[in-house]
Amino acid sequence: MVASFAVSWSRPGLEETISIELSPRLVRAIGRAMPRSRRIRLATAVAEAPEATIAEVLCHEVAHIVAWDLFGPSARPHGREWAALMRAAGFEPRIRLDPATRGLRMPDPRTSAATRPRPWLYEHRCPVCQASRTSGRVVRRWRCARCVRAGLDGELVVSRRPKGVAASLRDRARTALRDALSSRG
Ligand SMILES: [Zn+2]
Ligand SMILES: [Zn+2]
Repeated sequence: MVASFAVSWSRPGLEETISIELSPRLVRAIGRAMPRSRRIRLATAVAEAPEATIAEVLCHEVAHIVAWDLFGPSARPHGREWAALMRAAGFEPRIRLDPATRGLRMPDPRTSAATRPRPWLYEHRCPVCQASRTSGRVVRRWRCARCVRAGLDGELVVSRRPKGVAASLRDRARTALRDALSSRG
């Protein structure tokens, strides 16, 4: 396919200079071109798509590299140079494709491994009053507000545990119980 685009752009041998890889980590974008390293990364779903979709996605990305070859960084990513290359290869210069109508079964970014949140929870516990807060990362600036008000430094001790539904429910229950107890004074 790349060789046929190369013919319409009078760039024989272009296909030998570009490497193309499928990436399961690409879930929000269908494809990505890296002109400096002459690499194209396509979402795994592209391989399963109808041939017309594969051709357009591939042409879109290869045209980014050729626009870079011809005009360097002065050519805007989807500027008129890129659009002219798309037309010369027989495509409408569409910036975005609708995966649903083009037979592209993109993974759901909310459940994809590539975008799944880090599987750890960091508990920040006050060693004085045992109050705790959790976060998906370590928050160094957090202090125990109650202890700070009482004139202490309020420093928290951080411990890590695997994130899981059970753990977060247990945590929520514990917080609710503590709130209920402390509101009773
Ligand atoms: Zn693009
Ligand atoms: Zn405290």
